[in-house]
Amino acid sequence: MPSAQPTTRSDELMRTARTVIPGGVNSPVRAFRSVGGTPRFMASGTGPWLTDVDGNRYVDLICSWGPMILGHAHPDVEQAVREAAAKGFSFGTPSENEVLLAAEIVDRVAPLEQVRLVSSGTEATMSALRLARGATGRSKVVKFAGCYHGHVDALLAAAGSGLATFALPDSAGVPVSSAHETIVLPYNDVSAVEAAFAEHGDEIACVITEAAAGNMGVVPPEPGFTAALRRITREHGALLISDEVMTGFRCSAAGWYGLEGEPEGGAPDLFTFGKVMGGGFPAAAFGGSAELMSRLAPDGPVYQAGTLSGNPVATAAGLATLRGCTAAVYDRLTQVSDALIAGATEALNVAGVPHVIGRAGSMFNVFFREERVRDYDDARDQDTAAFGRFFHSMLQQGVHLPPSAFESWFVSASHDDEAVDAVLAALPTAAAAAAAA
Ligand code: PMP
Repeated sequence: MPSAQPTTRSDELMRTARTVIPGGVNSPVRAFRSVGGTPRFMASGTGPWLTDVDGNRYVDLICSWGPMILGHAHPDVEQAVREAAAKGFSFGTPSENEVLLAAEIVDRVAPLEQVRLVSSGTEATMSALRLARGATGRSKVVKFAGCYHGHVDALLAAAGSGLATFALPDSAGVPVSSAHETIVLPYNDVSAVEAAFAEHGDEIACVITEAAAGNMGVVPPEPGFTAALRRITREHGALLISDEVMTGFRCSAAGWYGLEGEPEGGAPDLFTFGKVMGGGFPAAAFGGSAELMSRLAPDGPVYQAGTLSGNPVATAAGLATLRGCTAAVYDRLTQVSDALIAGATEALNVAGVPHVIGRAGSMFNVFFREERVRDYDDARDQDTAAFGRFFHSMLQQGVHLPPSAFESWFVSASHDDEAVDAVLAALPTAAAAAAAA
Protein backbone atom coordinates (compact mmCIF):
# COMPACT_ATOMS: atom_id res chain seq x y z
CA MET A 1 0.00 0.00 0.00
CA PRO A 2 1.68 3.27 -1.12
CA SER A 3 1.96 5.80 1.65
CA ALA A 4 2.01 9.59 1.51
CA GLN A 5 3.40 9.64 5.02
CA PRO A 6 7.09 8.99 5.57
CA THR A 7 7.53 5.47 6.95
CA THR A 8 11.28 5.05 6.42
CA ARG A 9 12.14 4.48 10.05
CA SER A 10 9.17 2.13 10.66
CA ASP A 11 10.15 0.18 7.52
CA GLU A 12 13.73 -0.12 8.75
CA LEU A 13 12.68 -1.21 12.22
CA MET A 14 10.27 -3.76 10.77
CA ARG A 15 13.03 -5.22 8.60
CA THR A 16 15.27 -5.64 11.64
CA ALA A 17 12.38 -6.81 13.80
CA ARG A 18 11.62 -9.61 11.37
CA THR A 19 15.13 -10.96 11.84
CA VAL A 20 14.95 -11.15 15.63
CA ILE A 21 11.21 -11.41 16.42
CA PRO A 22 8.84 -13.87 14.68
CA GLY A 23 6.84 -11.88 12.13
CA GLY A 24 8.47 -8.76 13.55
CA VAL A 25 5.85 -8.42 16.28
CA ASN A 26 5.26 -9.62 19.81
CA SER A 27 1.50 -10.03 19.35
CA PRO A 28 0.18 -11.12 15.94
CA VAL A 29 -2.55 -8.57 15.26
CA ARG A 30 0.01 -5.75 15.37
CA ALA A 31 1.53 -7.02 12.12
CA PHE A 32 -1.04 -5.44 9.71
CA ARG A 33 -1.39 -8.84 7.98
CA SER A 34 -5.08 -8.46 7.20
CA VAL A 35 -4.87 -4.84 6.06
CA GLY A 36 -1.40 -4.91 4.42
CA GLY A 37 1.34 -2.32 4.71
CA THR A 38 3.91 -1.59 7.39
CA PRO A 39 2.94 -1.32 11.02
CA ARG A 40 3.89 2.02 12.50
CA PHE A 41 6.43 1.85 15.31
CA MET A 42 5.32 4.25 18.00
CA ALA A 43 7.81 6.53 19.71
CA SER A 44 5.51 8.25 22.19
CA GLY A 45 1.96 8.83 23.27
CA THR A 46 0.27 11.66 25.11
CA GLY A 47 -3.45 11.92 25.80
CA PRO A 48 -5.29 10.72 22.68
CA TRP A 49 -2.25 11.16 20.41
CA LEU A 50 0.46 8.78 19.24
CA THR A 51 3.64 9.84 17.44
CA ASP A 52 5.56 7.30 15.41
CA VAL A 53 9.31 7.03 14.79
CA ASP A 54 8.98 8.97 11.51
CA GLY A 55 7.24 11.85 13.26
CA ASN A 56 3.70 11.07 12.01
CA ARG A 57 0.98 11.92 14.51
CA TYR A 58 -2.22 9.92 14.96
CA VAL A 59 -5.42 10.07 16.95
CA ASP A 60 -5.21 6.74 18.77
CA LEU A 61 -8.31 4.55 18.52
CA ILE A 62 -6.51 1.44 19.80
CA CYS A 63 -5.58 2.74 23.27
CA SER A 64 -3.31 -0.30 23.71
CA TRP A 65 -6.38 -2.50 23.01
CA GLY A 66 -8.22 -1.10 25.98
CA PRO A 67 -5.98 -0.23 28.93
CA MET A 68 -5.39 3.46 28.19
CA ILE A 69 -8.82 4.62 29.34
CA LEU A 70 -7.42 7.92 30.69
CA GLY A 71 -5.20 8.49 27.64
CA HIS A 72 -1.44 8.10 27.27
CA ALA A 73 0.95 9.23 29.99
CA HIS A 74 -1.82 10.57 32.20
CA PRO A 75 -0.06 12.81 34.77
CA ASP A 76 -1.61 11.10 37.85
CA VAL A 77 -0.71 7.64 36.61
CA GLU A 78 2.77 8.76 35.57
CA GLN A 79 3.37 10.20 39.03
CA ALA A 80 2.13 7.04 40.76
CA VAL A 81 4.44 4.94 38.59
CA ARG A 82 7.43 7.20 39.26
CA GLU A 83 6.80 7.15 42.99
CA ALA A 84 6.41 3.36 43.05
CA ALA A 85 9.44 2.74 40.84
CA ALA A 86 11.60 4.99 42.99
CA LYS A 87 10.93 2.62 45.89
CA GLY A 88 11.92 -0.57 44.06
CA PHE A 89 10.53 -2.59 41.17
CA SER A 90 9.61 -5.99 42.55
CA PHE A 91 10.00 -7.60 45.94
CA GLY A 92 8.51 -11.09 45.68
CA THR A 93 6.86 -10.42 49.03
CA PRO A 94 3.42 -8.96 49.72
CA SER A 95 3.20 -5.17 49.31
CA GLU A 96 0.57 -2.58 50.12
CA ASN A 97 -0.52 -1.62 46.60
CA GLU A 98 -1.69 -5.17 45.89
CA VAL A 99 -4.10 -4.96 48.80
CA LEU A 100 -5.34 -1.54 47.72
CA LEU A 101 -5.87 -2.62 44.13
CA ALA A 102 -7.65 -5.84 45.15
CA ALA A 103 -9.89 -3.83 47.50
CA GLU A 104 -10.64 -1.28 44.76
CA ILE A 105 -11.75 -4.08 42.41
CA VAL A 106 -13.79 -5.90 45.05
CA ASP A 107 -15.50 -2.61 46.01
CA ARG A 108 -16.54 -1.93 42.43
CA VAL A 109 -17.92 -5.29 41.37
CA ALA A 110 -20.54 -6.31 43.93
CA PRO A 111 -20.44 -10.13 43.61
CA LEU A 112 -16.67 -10.25 44.19
CA GLU A 113 -15.34 -11.04 47.64
CA GLN A 114 -11.76 -11.85 46.70
CA VAL A 115 -9.47 -11.48 43.72
CA ARG A 116 -6.08 -12.99 42.96
CA LEU A 117 -3.76 -10.72 40.96
CA VAL A 118 -1.85 -12.03 37.95
CA SER A 119 0.05 -10.37 35.10
CA SER A 120 -2.06 -10.89 31.96
CA GLY A 121 -5.61 -11.59 30.87
CA THR A 122 -4.44 -14.95 29.59
CA GLU A 123 -3.21 -15.91 33.03
CA ALA A 124 -6.49 -14.74 34.56
CA THR A 125 -8.67 -16.91 32.32
CA MET A 126 -6.26 -19.87 32.51
CA SER A 127 -6.33 -19.70 36.31
CA ALA A 128 -10.11 -19.23 36.48
CA LEU A 129 -10.50 -22.31 34.29
CA ARG A 130 -8.23 -24.35 36.55
CA LEU A 131 -10.15 -23.19 39.60
CA ALA A 132 -13.48 -24.11 37.99
CA ARG A 133 -12.15 -27.55 37.11
CA GLY A 134 -10.64 -27.98 40.57
CA ALA A 135 -13.83 -26.89 42.31
CA THR A 136 -16.16 -29.10 40.26
CA GLY A 137 -13.88 -32.06 39.67
CA ARG A 138 -14.96 -31.94 36.01
CA SER A 139 -12.89 -31.23 32.92
CA LYS A 140 -15.04 -30.02 30.03
CA VAL A 141 -15.33 -26.32 29.24
CA VAL A 142 -17.91 -24.52 27.12
CA LYS A 143 -16.78 -21.46 25.19
CA PHE A 144 -18.37 -19.47 22.40
CA ALA A 145 -17.10 -19.12 18.85
CA GLY A 146 -15.54 -15.70 18.30
CA CYS A 147 -14.86 -15.14 21.99
CA TYR A 148 -11.16 -14.73 22.76
CA HIS A 149 -9.91 -15.42 26.24
CA GLY A 150 -6.17 -15.17 25.67
CA HIS A 151 -3.88 -17.86 24.29
CA VAL A 152 -4.87 -20.58 26.74
CA ASP A 153 -4.63 -24.02 25.08
CA ALA A 154 -8.15 -25.09 25.95
CA LEU A 155 -9.61 -21.77 24.79
CA LEU A 156 -7.88 -21.47 21.43
CA ALA A 157 -10.73 -23.15 19.63
CA ALA A 158 -12.72 -20.85 17.35
CA ALA A 159 -11.29 -17.82 19.14
CA GLY A 160 -11.66 -14.33 17.70
CA SER A 161 -9.11 -11.49 17.78
CA GLY A 162 -5.87 -12.32 15.91
CA LEU A 163 -7.26 -15.74 15.07
CA ALA A 164 -10.27 -14.14 13.40
CA THR A 165 -7.94 -11.86 11.50
CA PHE A 166 -5.86 -14.77 10.26
CA ALA A 167 -8.82 -17.10 9.78
CA LEU A 168 -6.97 -19.88 11.58
CA PRO A 169 -9.53 -22.37 12.80
CA ASP A 170 -7.27 -23.26 15.66
CA SER A 171 -3.65 -23.12 16.72
CA ALA A 172 -1.00 -25.71 15.97
CA GLY A 173 0.60 -26.97 19.14
CA VAL A 174 -2.65 -27.31 21.07
CA PRO A 175 -2.92 -30.98 22.03
CA VAL A 176 -5.97 -32.77 20.71
CA SER A 177 -6.60 -33.91 24.28
CA SER A 178 -6.83 -30.30 25.39
CA ALA A 179 -9.14 -29.12 22.60
CA HIS A 180 -11.15 -32.29 23.14
CA GLU A 181 -12.26 -30.97 26.51
CA THR A 182 -13.59 -27.78 24.92
CA ILE A 183 -17.09 -27.49 23.54
CA VAL A 184 -17.46 -24.52 21.18
CA LEU A 185 -20.95 -23.13 20.70
CA PRO A 186 -22.41 -20.20 18.77
CA TYR A 187 -22.60 -16.99 20.83
CA ASN A 188 -26.06 -15.80 21.80
CA ASP A 189 -27.57 -19.23 21.11
CA VAL A 190 -29.33 -20.48 24.25
CA SER A 191 -30.68 -23.63 22.64
CA ALA A 192 -27.14 -24.71 21.65
CA VAL A 193 -26.09 -24.35 25.30
CA GLU A 194 -29.11 -26.36 26.45
CA ALA A 195 -28.31 -29.10 23.94
CA ALA A 196 -24.64 -29.28 25.03
CA PHE A 197 -25.65 -29.56 28.68
CA ALA A 198 -28.31 -32.18 27.86
CA GLU A 199 -25.53 -34.31 26.41
CA HIS A 200 -22.53 -33.51 28.65
CA GLY A 201 -24.09 -31.79 31.67
CA ASP A 202 -22.29 -33.83 34.33
CA GLU A 203 -18.87 -33.44 32.66
CA ILE A 204 -18.90 -29.65 32.18
CA ALA A 205 -16.86 -27.67 34.72
CA CYS A 206 -17.76 -24.23 33.43
CA VAL A 207 -19.05 -21.96 30.73
CA ILE A 208 -16.70 -19.09 29.94
CA THR A 209 -18.06 -16.15 28.02
CA GLU A 210 -16.91 -12.65 27.18
CA ALA A 211 -19.21 -10.46 29.28
CA ALA A 212 -19.86 -8.61 26.01
CA ALA A 213 -17.88 -9.97 23.10
CA GLY A 214 -15.23 -7.59 21.78
CA ASN A 215 -12.92 -9.93 19.89
CA MET A 216 -15.10 -10.65 16.83
CA GLY A 217 -15.92 -6.97 16.61
CA VAL A 218 -18.31 -5.87 19.33
CA VAL A 219 -21.26 -8.19 19.86
CA PRO A 220 -23.13 -7.71 23.13
CA PRO A 221 -25.09 -10.57 24.65
CA GLU A 222 -28.74 -10.49 23.64
CA PRO A 223 -31.15 -9.69 26.47
CA GLY A 224 -31.55 -12.80 28.60
CA PHE A 225 -28.46 -14.62 27.25
CA THR A 226 -26.32 -14.17 30.38
CA ALA A 227 -29.31 -15.06 32.58
CA ALA A 228 -29.86 -18.24 30.54
CA LEU A 229 -26.19 -19.18 31.01
CA ARG A 230 -26.62 -18.58 34.75
CA ARG A 231 -29.73 -20.76 34.90
CA ILE A 232 -28.34 -23.64 32.82
CA THR A 233 -24.97 -23.77 34.62
CA ARG A 234 -26.75 -23.78 38.01
CA GLU A 235 -29.07 -26.57 36.95
CA HIS A 236 -26.09 -28.73 36.04
CA GLY A 237 -23.67 -27.82 38.83
CA ALA A 238 -21.25 -26.01 36.48
CA LEU A 239 -19.67 -22.61 37.09
CA LEU A 240 -20.15 -19.48 35.00
CA ILE A 241 -17.05 -17.40 34.23
CA SER A 242 -17.59 -13.89 32.94
CA ASP A 243 -14.48 -12.69 31.10
CA GLU A 244 -14.34 -8.94 31.71
CA VAL A 245 -10.71 -8.51 30.62
CA MET A 246 -11.84 -6.10 27.90
CA THR A 247 -15.12 -4.77 29.31
CA GLY A 248 -14.03 -4.53 32.96
CA PHE A 249 -13.90 -0.94 34.28
CA ARG A 250 -14.44 0.28 30.70
CA CYS A 251 -18.13 -0.32 30.04
CA SER A 252 -18.86 1.19 33.47
CA ALA A 253 -17.15 1.54 36.87
CA ALA A 254 -18.18 -2.09 37.44
CA GLY A 255 -17.61 -3.19 33.85
CA TRP A 256 -20.26 -4.94 31.78
CA TYR A 257 -21.73 -6.33 35.00
CA GLY A 258 -22.38 -2.76 36.13
CA LEU A 259 -23.96 -1.82 32.82
CA GLU A 260 -26.16 -4.87 32.27
CA GLY A 261 -26.98 -5.42 35.94
CA GLU A 262 -27.09 -8.71 37.75
CA PRO A 263 -28.52 -11.44 35.54
CA GLU A 264 -31.79 -12.93 36.72
CA GLY A 265 -30.84 -15.94 38.80
CA GLY A 266 -27.63 -14.45 40.17
CA ALA A 267 -24.15 -13.22 39.30
CA PRO A 268 -21.48 -15.27 37.51
CA ASP A 269 -19.29 -17.38 39.84
CA LEU A 270 -15.98 -16.05 38.57
CA PHE A 271 -14.88 -12.86 36.82
CA THR A 272 -11.64 -12.16 34.99
CA PHE A 273 -10.09 -8.72 34.51
CA GLY A 274 -7.06 -7.16 32.82
CA LYS A 275 -6.36 -4.18 30.55
CA VAL A 276 -7.83 -1.10 32.36
CA MET A 277 -6.96 -2.41 35.84
CA GLY A 278 -3.25 -2.36 34.91
CA GLY A 279 -3.33 1.15 33.45
CA GLY A 280 -0.96 0.02 30.66
CA PHE A 281 1.21 -2.19 32.88
CA PRO A 282 0.98 -5.98 33.24
CA ALA A 283 -1.72 -6.52 35.86
CA ALA A 284 -4.81 -8.70 35.67
CA ALA A 285 -7.03 -10.58 38.10
CA PHE A 286 -9.64 -13.23 38.60
CA GLY A 287 -12.09 -13.39 41.47
CA GLY A 288 -15.30 -14.63 42.99
CA SER A 289 -16.71 -15.60 46.37
CA ALA A 290 -14.33 -16.10 49.28
CA GLU A 291 -15.48 -19.71 49.49
CA LEU A 292 -14.59 -20.46 45.87
CA MET A 293 -11.32 -18.50 45.98
CA SER A 294 -10.29 -20.40 49.14
CA ARG A 295 -9.73 -23.43 46.90
CA LEU A 296 -6.58 -21.72 45.63
CA ALA A 297 -3.12 -22.33 47.04
CA PRO A 298 -1.95 -21.69 49.73
CA ASP A 299 -5.31 -22.38 51.42
CA GLY A 300 -6.64 -24.89 48.91
CA PRO A 301 -5.54 -27.57 46.46
CA VAL A 302 -5.69 -25.56 43.19
CA TYR A 303 -2.18 -24.30 42.45
CA GLN A 304 -1.63 -20.86 40.97
CA ALA A 305 1.34 -18.49 41.33
CA GLY A 306 3.50 -15.79 39.71
CA THR A 307 6.90 -14.17 40.34
CA LEU A 308 5.65 -10.75 39.23
CA SER A 309 2.00 -11.12 40.35
CA GLY A 310 0.88 -7.95 42.13
CA ASN A 311 4.01 -6.13 40.99
CA PRO A 312 4.30 -2.87 42.93
CA VAL A 313 4.77 -0.64 39.88
CA ALA A 314 1.98 -2.28 37.88
CA THR A 315 -0.41 -2.15 40.82
CA ALA A 316 0.43 1.52 41.38
CA ALA A 317 -0.46 2.24 37.74
CA GLY A 318 -3.66 0.21 37.99
CA LEU A 319 -4.72 1.84 41.21
CA ALA A 320 -4.12 5.37 39.90
CA THR A 321 -6.02 4.49 36.72
CA LEU A 322 -9.03 3.03 38.52
CA ARG A 323 -9.11 5.94 40.95
CA GLY A 324 -9.03 8.28 37.95
CA CYS A 325 -12.07 6.56 36.41
CA THR A 326 -14.64 9.01 37.74
CA ALA A 327 -18.23 9.41 36.59
CA ALA A 328 -17.00 12.26 34.37
CA VAL A 329 -14.60 9.85 32.66
CA TYR A 330 -17.42 7.43 31.80
CA ASP A 331 -19.57 10.34 30.58
CA ARG A 332 -16.79 11.46 28.29
CA LEU A 333 -16.25 7.93 26.92
CA THR A 334 -19.96 7.82 26.06
CA GLN A 335 -19.88 11.27 24.42
CA VAL A 336 -16.83 10.39 22.33
CA SER A 337 -18.29 7.03 21.29
CA ASP A 338 -21.63 8.64 20.38
CA ALA A 339 -19.89 11.30 18.29
CA LEU A 340 -17.64 8.85 16.43
CA ILE A 341 -20.48 6.40 15.79
CA ALA A 342 -22.69 9.22 14.45
CA GLY A 343 -19.86 10.50 12.25
CA ALA A 344 -18.99 7.05 10.88
CA THR A 345 -22.63 6.22 10.22
CA GLU A 346 -23.22 9.44 8.34
CA ALA A 347 -20.03 9.19 6.28
CA LEU A 348 -20.68 5.57 5.33
CA ASN A 349 -24.32 6.33 4.49
CA VAL A 350 -23.28 9.22 2.23
CA ALA A 351 -20.75 6.97 0.50
CA GLY A 352 -23.32 4.17 0.17
CA VAL A 353 -21.23 1.64 2.09
CA PRO A 354 -23.21 -1.18 3.74
CA HIS A 355 -22.40 -1.20 7.43
CA VAL A 356 -23.75 -1.82 10.88
CA ILE A 357 -22.36 -0.69 14.23
CA GLY A 358 -21.59 -3.15 17.02
CA ARG A 359 -21.58 -1.55 20.46
CA ALA A 360 -21.22 -2.41 24.15
CA GLY A 361 -20.96 0.74 26.27
CA SER A 362 -18.04 2.75 24.91
CA MET A 363 -16.66 -0.24 22.96
CA PHE A 364 -17.79 -0.21 19.34
CA ASN A 365 -16.78 -0.98 15.79
CA VAL A 366 -18.07 -0.83 12.23
CA PHE A 367 -19.01 -4.13 10.59
CA PHE A 368 -18.92 -3.81 6.82
CA ARG A 369 -22.22 -5.59 6.24
CA GLU A 370 -25.84 -4.54 6.36
CA GLU A 371 -27.42 -6.92 8.85
CA ARG A 372 -27.09 -6.95 12.61
CA VAL A 373 -24.31 -9.20 14.02
CA ARG A 374 -25.22 -11.65 16.75
CA ASP A 375 -22.49 -14.29 16.44
CA TYR A 376 -19.15 -15.17 14.88
CA ASP A 377 -20.61 -16.44 11.59
CA ASP A 378 -22.35 -13.09 11.14
CA ALA A 379 -19.16 -11.19 12.06
CA ARG A 380 -17.12 -13.10 9.49
CA ASP A 381 -19.69 -12.42 6.80
CA GLN A 382 -18.48 -8.88 6.13
CA ASP A 383 -16.43 -7.03 3.51
CA THR A 384 -12.96 -7.11 5.09
CA ALA A 385 -11.42 -5.62 1.93
CA ALA A 386 -13.63 -2.55 2.41
CA PHE A 387 -12.39 -2.36 5.99
CA GLY A 388 -8.78 -2.48 4.72
CA ARG A 389 -9.36 0.49 2.40
CA PHE A 390 -11.15 2.37 5.16
CA PHE A 391 -8.36 1.60 7.66
CA HIS A 392 -5.57 2.83 5.35
CA SER A 393 -7.40 5.99 4.43
CA MET A 394 -7.89 6.77 8.13
CA LEU A 395 -4.21 6.01 8.81
CA GLN A 396 -3.10 8.32 5.99
CA GLN A 397 -5.24 11.04 7.53
CA GLY A 398 -3.72 10.54 10.96
CA VAL A 399 -6.22 8.25 12.69
CA HIS A 400 -4.93 4.89 13.92
CA LEU A 401 -7.72 2.29 14.03
CA PRO A 402 -7.15 -1.30 15.14
CA PRO A 403 -5.71 -3.01 12.03
CA SER A 404 -8.47 -5.62 11.77
CA ALA A 405 -12.19 -5.69 11.01
CA PHE A 406 -12.70 -7.98 14.01
CA GLU A 407 -11.58 -5.64 16.77
CA SER A 408 -13.24 -3.05 18.92
CA TRP A 409 -12.24 0.58 18.55
CA PHE A 410 -11.16 2.03 21.88
CA VAL A 411 -11.49 5.62 23.03
CA SER A 412 -10.21 7.37 26.14
CA ALA A 413 -11.44 10.18 28.33
CA SER A 414 -8.54 12.26 26.97
CA HIS A 415 -10.11 12.25 23.48
CA ASP A 416 -10.91 15.94 23.51
CA ASP A 417 -12.81 17.90 20.88
CA GLU A 418 -9.66 18.40 18.80
CA ALA A 419 -9.08 14.64 18.60
CA VAL A 420 -12.75 13.87 17.94
CA ASP A 421 -12.92 16.55 15.23
CA ALA A 422 -9.80 15.11 13.58
CA VAL A 423 -11.49 11.69 13.36
CA LEU A 424 -14.76 13.19 12.11
CA ALA A 425 -12.87 15.12 9.43
CA ALA A 426 -11.17 11.95 8.19
CA LEU A 427 -14.29 9.78 8.00
CA PRO A 428 -15.85 11.00 4.69
CA THR A 429 -12.65 10.35 2.69
CA ALA A 430 -12.22 6.95 4.36
CA ALA A 431 -15.85 6.05 3.65
CA ALA A 432 -15.34 6.99 -0.01
CA ALA A 433 -12.22 4.78 -0.07
CA ALA A 434 -14.21 1.91 1.43
CA ALA A 435 -16.84 2.36 -1.30
CA ALA A 436 -14.32 2.37 -4.16
CA ALA A 437 -13.65 -1.34 -4.78
N1 PMP B 1 -9.92 -12.08 27.54
C1 PMP B 1 -10.38 -11.11 26.73
C2 PMP B 1 -11.86 -10.85 26.67
C3 PMP B 1 -9.49 -10.34 25.99
O1 PMP B 1 -9.96 -9.38 25.18
C4 PMP B 1 -8.11 -10.61 26.07
C5 PMP B 1 -7.08 -9.81 25.28
N2 PMP B 1 -7.52 -9.09 24.22
C6 PMP B 1 -7.67 -11.62 26.93
C7 PMP B 1 -8.60 -12.33 27.66
C8 PMP B 1 -6.22 -11.95 27.08
O2 PMP B 1 -5.56 -10.91 27.72
P1 PMP B 1 -3.97 -10.73 27.56
O3 PMP B 1 -3.74 -10.30 26.15
O4 PMP B 1 -3.64 -9.70 28.57
O5 PMP B 1 -3.35 -12.04 27.87
